[in-house]
Amino acid sequence: KVVDTDVVVIGAGISGLCAAKLLHETGLDVQVLEARDRVGGRTYTVSDPGCGYVDLGGAYVGPTQDRILRVAKELDVTTYQVDTEQKAVSYFGGVHRSASFDDPSLLTNNPLALLDMNNYIQQTEKFSKQVPLEAPWNAPRAKEWDSMTYKEFIDKECWTSFAKKLLTSILGGLASCELEEMSLLAVLSSLASAGGFQMANAAQERKFVGGSMQVSEKIAALLGNRVVLSSPVMRIEQEETVAMVTTHSGQQYRAKYIISAVPPPLLHRILFEPPLPDMKIQMVQRMPMGSIIKTNTYYKTAFWKEKGFCGSALSDKGPVNYCMDDTKPDGTHPAIMGFILSTHAREHCEMSTEQRKQAVCKHYAEVFQCPEFLHPVNYVEQNWMAETFSGGCYAATLGPGVMTSFGRELRNPFCRMYFAGTETAVKWAGYMDGAVEAGERAAREVLHAMGKIPEDEIWQEEPPSVDVPHTPMAVDPLEKYLPSVPQLLYFLLAFLVLLIAVLCVYLL
Ligand code: FAD
Repeated sequence: KVVDTDVVVIGAGISGLCAAKLLHETGLDVQVLEARDRVGGRTYTVSDPGCGYVDLGGAYVGPTQDRILRVAKELDVTTYQVDTEQKAVSYFGGVHRSASFDDPSLLTNNPLALLDMNNYIQQTEKFSKQVPLEAPWNAPRAKEWDSMTYKEFIDKECWTSFAKKLLTSILGGLASCELEEMSLLAVLSSLASAGGFQMANAAQERKFVGGSMQVSEKIAALLGNRVVLSSPVMRIEQEETVAMVTTHSGQQYRAKYIISAVPPPLLHRILFEPPLPDMKIQMVQRMPMGSIIKTNTYYKTAFWKEKGFCGSALSDKGPVNYCMDDTKPDGTHPAIMGFILSTHAREHCEMSTEQRKQAVCKHYAEVFQCPEFLHPVNYVEQNWMAETFSGGCYAATLGPGVMTSFGRELRNPFCRMYFAGTETAVKWAGYMDGAVEAGERAAREVLHAMGKIPEDEIWQEEPPSVDVPHTPMAVDPLEKYLPSVPQLLYFLLAFLVLLIAVLCVYLL
């Protein structure tokens, strides 16, 4: 029997559920169709006596992520601050360093490399401010930046091979694909979407007590039987006044409107009648998902804290690129969360869980120089590359040329279908906060199409969170006006020429 409804939402991740929640609150009938046997999508909290609960997908939130903070608060999901008080560790090129997170000597003491890195940060921040959030393809230098890979930009901006190597390792260690796979414009657009380096660095300030998947579970509980699990959408037919959505089991849903809240590349698996517009089909083929395996390793005690380490480490040596303490706020279940990313994820995805566990523990023992890391009491992980209904994580990535040629397609509606999902967000795209923005915006697009709200109400500003305030740190003027390495060399050269000239005049 065909189910009649006002709106079908495809995907019960944060974005789809936030869209459905808003429509439901407006009095519309919604049906959320979810492929998996659980809600939450790229957020995934597992409960187990060995770890209490653990977030194996999206987990961290920070200042200015006001939408996800608002939704979580409304659902009674609270946050706690992640412990980064003590020293962090860096291990690049076989050199161990430890210092507080905001101390540049954590990475290097080489003054030229520090100048180089400072110049890179200033330039990147300056360029990202020139990228219009809602239309990065309209940036004044969009074509130029979109034809360059992020790796080429770093190689161009940095003079010292040490800084080039270090930045490539650090930034490559934070991204879910190689720097040569990303366009500079896409990176500048992500940075602008997060509000700059300061905010992007603070994005891992907090976690949700009880795990991030609660946000989706609690919205699903409000929606009751309007959320249908284990129902991958296979076919979408649209006519002038109605759309028909068919799931894998053959169940059909007739709706006035559809919201897709699935990651863009997965749209390619759905059969459309009429077919998706040419440019949209082309776009979804050009947005691969990133490569990530997220791991959590548990120990009897948080012995690293007794040694003065907060548990955070950055390294160019695999398998873990970046790790952080993941002990519960009450001190129970001492743990280290580690991301295996990009090439390391690709190299390790074929291994068994036991082999990865051994490799991760060996890595921590080497990076922190603590053999105690070789003796975990529990290990859990999630290989997101193996997830049929994600295809990888954190989010879709954009290579050179994609943003300028296809970016306009991201949010473009198609007949009676609107597009949500974090990839379509303007602020915090790729994050949970972006998922909320995109879901609510798509829901209001439907409300507008139904004549229920005016067009100028589709996009809404979010009031700042009072619980997680944003207190901007003053920019150190020295950082802003420090010369780049070539500027310093020109200055020294000019000084030398002047000195020789003065000496010649004086001596002759
Ligand atoms: P999704 O969560 O992907 O939801 C899409 C849903 O659609 C899924 O449930 C999927 O099963 C379903 N679906 C797919 N195809 C179909 C189909 N054909 N029919 C029906 N349903 C379908 N973000 C942060 O803010 N902070 C972090 O610290 C952070 N870290 C991350 C770490 C990892 C390891 C990962 C994986 C992600 C991380 N993210 C983080 C990103 C964040 O999790 C995502 O941005 C966000 O959850 C995306 O939500 P979404 O609703 O847009 O998409």
